Amino acid sequence: MTKEINLTEELKKYFGFDTFKGNQKAIIENLLAGKDTFVLMPTGGGKSLCYQLPSLLLDGTAVVISPLIALMKNQVDAMRNFSEEDGVAHFINSSLNKSAIDQVKTDILSGKTKLLYVAPESLTKEENIEFLKQAKISFYAVDEAHCISEWGHDFRPEYRRIRPIINEIGSHPLIALTATATPKVQHDIQKNLGMTDSAVFKSSFNRPNLYYEVRPKTQNVDKDIIRYIKNQPGKSGIIYCLSRKKVEELAETLKVNGINALPYHAGMDSATRTQNQDAFLLEKVDVIVATIAFGMGIDKPDVRYVIHYDIPKSLEGYYQETGRAGRDGGEGQCITFYMNKDLQKLEKFMQGKPIAEQEIGKQLLLETAAYAESSVCRRKLLLHYFGEEYNEENCGNCDNCLNPKKQVEAQDLLCAVIETVVALKEKFKADHVIDVLLGKETTEVLSYHQDELEVFGCGQGEEEKTWNAVIRQALIAGYLDKDIENYGLLKVTKAGLAFLKKPVSFKIVEDNDFEEIEEEVPMK
Ligand code: ADP
Ligand code: ZN
Repeated sequence: MTKEINLTEELKKYFGFDTFKGNQKAIIENLLAGKDTFVLMPTGGGKSLCYQLPSLLLDGTAVVISPLIALMKNQVDAMRNFSEEDGVAHFINSSLNKSAIDQVKTDILSGKTKLLYVAPESLTKEENIEFLKQAKISFYAVDEAHCISEWGHDFRPEYRRIRPIINEIGSHPLIALTATATPKVQHDIQKNLGMTDSAVFKSSFNRPNLYYEVRPKTQNVDKDIIRYIKNQPGKSGIIYCLSRKKVEELAETLKVNGINALPYHAGMDSATRTQNQDAFLLEKVDVIVATIAFGMGIDKPDVRYVIHYDIPKSLEGYYQETGRAGRDGGEGQCITFYMNKDLQKLEKFMQGKPIAEQEIGKQLLLETAAYAESSVCRRKLLLHYFGEEYNEENCGNCDNCLNPKKQVEAQDLLCAVIETVVALKEKFKADHVIDVLLGKETTEVLSYHQDELEVFGCGQGEEEKTWNAVIRQALIAGYLDKDIENYGLLKVTKAGLAFLKKPVSFKIVEDNDFEEIEEEVPMK
């Protein structure tokens, strides 16, 4: 690019917006300078524009790899609205016939097409690779880049082939974008796309207007929900349930209790589904009871509450689903009902899947449970999960901050944990570290002769749940870390080693106890 361009003018000209949102401008400048660019931005942050605008400003065609055929068509239609030029955006996926594909190719070679959306499985086809070698490409964009990682919520093995294929077609700058910002996923993406040195643009994932609360799930959960909804007449809300059956049942229960509610799940015929969704969007019903099938691409700005009837499978999912509340910046209440027993139900769902997938699923679930049981600020926990530090003492908008539990000094306990992690050479997960602290002679402990270590049994004075709380809160405070390659292995950070040398005050709050509540619920 030799000529000077005024990005704000171009933004106005093509998209009609007056200003850039968040990091958009810096991201676009980085990409226009020909550099690899990594974008972590929450849903609704304005990711698409980060590659759409540059594609219009550069010579050649930008290749956008995107996993969702339905969204692809929407995006192409939207781009066509922004441009007078015919054929400015196209997509290639399995839904196109031969003559449609020929038209796309003609437009690309003639230089008309600025954006080409391709599904990953189309990108891996030899004929498309051969064609793209002849095309003039401006850059590549990898949308929904978390699909590369098994730790993301939508792992797609074809995404792992993107880098080798790009190398084969010919190297150009690459922009990768995702709304999944856990450090583990970020690491996988950068490694897999060969962009470990790229600039990283990360927006904050904090949603200050959302109120987070976890309530014990008792046998009265339905009544609790009915009372909650009746207290906010006329407001829109979403209730997520794990199973289709529960969706149907709860929608029915709400209806007979005089609440205007409809169900939504993937097992319903598509006409009814669309009808129910529209009824919600058009405010003909207040409440939609749904599985997680509901919500993708739905943009209702004034959803006032999101209730999780069951604990979500991961904190990532929890963040996305609760994120549908308060999109207009107004109030959004996120209430989750939790009991320990739901974890077993979720684990059962995972049976039959490949072992590696089950392991990952279990880890993600454990982190969600830790979140639910914790007495630490929910916002702090959630943002920590996304690799973001939240330093406020009290967020003022979560149950744990509004009703804080007493803090207890745990300086000595943290020293014991750090010493044990060091003694175990940073090669073990939290549960194993706790076994050693408690002096449990498990097969694994004995096989490593860890019963001979000085730290063995040094923590017998405290309960297992206290040690769990110390470890979780030490992770959040940055004294411990989890190995990014072998997720879950505890490491001691520099701050942790410094703490050991010269301990300072380390206060913890005891985790909430959800064990007893579990007993109250009758077995079905
Ligand atoms: P994401 O992909 O990050 O979820 P989108 O790209 O769909 O977000 O953008 C979310 C919304 O924000 C869209 O309606 C889009 O038109 C709008 N938007 C994007 N950039 C701007 C901007 N600079 N000014 C105003 N609105 C914007
Ligand atoms: Zn808080």
